[in-house]
Amino acid sequence: MITIFTRRGKRIEILSERELPRPRLAGSRVRAFCPIHGSDHQRSLSIDPASGWGYCFNAACQARVLIAEWNPSAAHHLLGTDSSLRREQPADPEEPTASWATAPSYTHWRSQPATRSRASSVLRHWQEEERRLLRALEPIMQEALQSSSLGRAYLYQRAIPLETALASGVGLLTPAIIARLPRARQRRLLQRWSERLIFPLQSESTKGYIGRTLAGWQPGMDENEHKQLLEYPGRPQRWIKTNPAGCFSLPRKELAPQLIVVEGTFDRLALMAAGLRAEEVVALAGTALPLSWLPAHVRRVLLALDGDEGGREATARLSAQLRGQGRAVSRCLIPLDGQGKDWNERWRLSGRAGLQPLLNSYRCLY
Ligand SMILES: [Zn+2]
Repeated sequence: MITIFTRRGKRIEILSERELPRPRLAGSRVRAFCPIHGSDHQRSLSIDPASGWGYCFNAACQARVLIAEWNPSAAHHLLGTDSSLRREQPADPEEPTASWATAPSYTHWRSQPATRSRASSVLRHWQEEERRLLRALEPIMQEALQSSSLGRAYLYQRAIPLETALASGVGLLTPAIIARLPRARQRRLLQRWSERLIFPLQSESTKGYIGRTLAGWQPGMDENEHKQLLEYPGRPQRWIKTNPAGCFSLPRKELAPQLIVVEGTFDRLALMAAGLRAEEVVALAGTALPLSWLPAHVRRVLLALDGDEGGREATARLSAQLRGQGRAVSRCLIPLDGQGKDWNERWRLSGRAGLQPLLNSYRCLY
């Protein structure tokens, strides 16, 4: 355990996952006895396994903790392990003062082989069960999307026909579905997925999911207004994913030899609504494509990512990787012509005309 004081005087305890006494899963949080105040009465430490950050409920303790292995970059930053990088960055009022320098070395956590500690097995088990539950609920979530006026109105607003969404495996996880789960543990586990459109993903080894919240959305609201609404503190995250996640596509072996790769799940649905076949379009659902994800029979790839800086960077990186694998690569960045920031928005605003740059590039691929 290492204690850090930020410049504002905020105290943070950095722990290794191995220092968590008897961790247990409670809903989407990991609960453990607090090693800071040393209680063994209750698991007063509550940690978000996704971010590694947590705090102690005990009124006399209220420790703020970071689990180093679950958020290595934050731990590195707080521990000042990369001082050259730190100097180049603008002054950060939260940047820690020099107390880390006298703290015991944290590098031994990294040099030791990863031990299968109780905490990480809890985390792994939680992630597996989450995927398993979502998989089991797929048919029910599809029915719910079909019968939900909210879900249908949302798809309509994004100009995606219900049939296209259903054919791609999209469903809706309603609070009613969660309430009907027999075990309290299952209900807690899926709570963060409530009120979300659920998209099945293909990872290399298994099936993953990504969920888009509809919380706060009302018919007539476009996705940009909804996005703004969700940016207020305390609102649900717009998208959440399982771990592993994967790409939104057909199973990898069913993909066509020539592909269009887009960023968003709704971009893929828009292209399919415009008549492209399911086996021709892959959505990254992010901007990363694991090097070994694309099967060998895919020979030609059209990268059609967003036109912003992230999209341009990802296009350059993916082009180099795919060419390195001996595949032909074309690019079609989304034009910055004010007709929509992504393919779904262009489809919604202008129909086929909005997709024309992509369709032209795709024809040239053959
Ligand atoms: Zn405590």
